[in-house]
Formats: sequence, structure tokens, C-alpha cells
Amino acid sequence: MKPLRTQKKESLFPKVKKNIIQVRKQGDPPEEDLESMEGFICDLCLATAHRKGITQCPFCGRWVCRDVCYNEDELCCTSCAGVIKLMRESVVLEDLAQPVLEEKKKK
Ligand SMILES: [Zn+2]
Ligand SMILES: [Zn+2]
Repeated sequence: MKPLRTQKKESLFPKVKKNIIQVRKQGDPPEEDLESMEGFICDLCLATAHRKGITQCPFCGRWVCRDVCYNEDELCCTSCAGVIKLMRESVVLEDLAQPVLEEKKKK
């Protein structure tokens, strides 16, 4: 029996939030590149990016460059994407472990 995908996503989000350290508050401005005056600094790779090329991660609040440090699949920075991947794997493991535990209780 496969668990519903929507259920899985709901249980995953708070777990991911718990495991990610917020670097910046949501809505806080990105670090300005004062040397080049050209744009903003990516919080992960420290490259300079223009305002349009930088985006704030909804999990950790880091401002990251879209080219290198933003994961389009997870819609967050590559750092958080790694945590999400780990959490997703652990959720899958929990899903597999639960029916076994319930069966033991019955006996
Ligand atoms: Zn970057
Ligand atoms: Zn992030």
C-alpha cells in the first residue's frame, strides 16, 4: 500500500522547518555588494548577483543566486534542498517502519 503523496508533503514541511536554521528573516533585504555597487551578494557562494538574479529561500531566508544556489525543483536554496532530500528519505523510512510497529502491538 502506497501512502498518499499529499499526506507525505504535509508531514514533511514542519520537519524540514525544524531542521533548517533560519539565517535571515523573511522579507529582510539581501546583502548589498558595496565594492562593485552592481548588485547583491549571494549568501551561499558569495557571488555578486543582480536583483533579478537573486531570490530569498523560503526556509532559511538566505538570499541566493538563481544560477548556482537555487534549486528549481525544491523551490529553495541548494543548502535547504539537501536537508529536504534527507528529510524526505527519513519520512519514507518512517512510513515503511510504522506498519511493522503496529503489527507488533497487535500480537
Ligand atoms: Zn550563489
Ligand atoms: Zn535555504
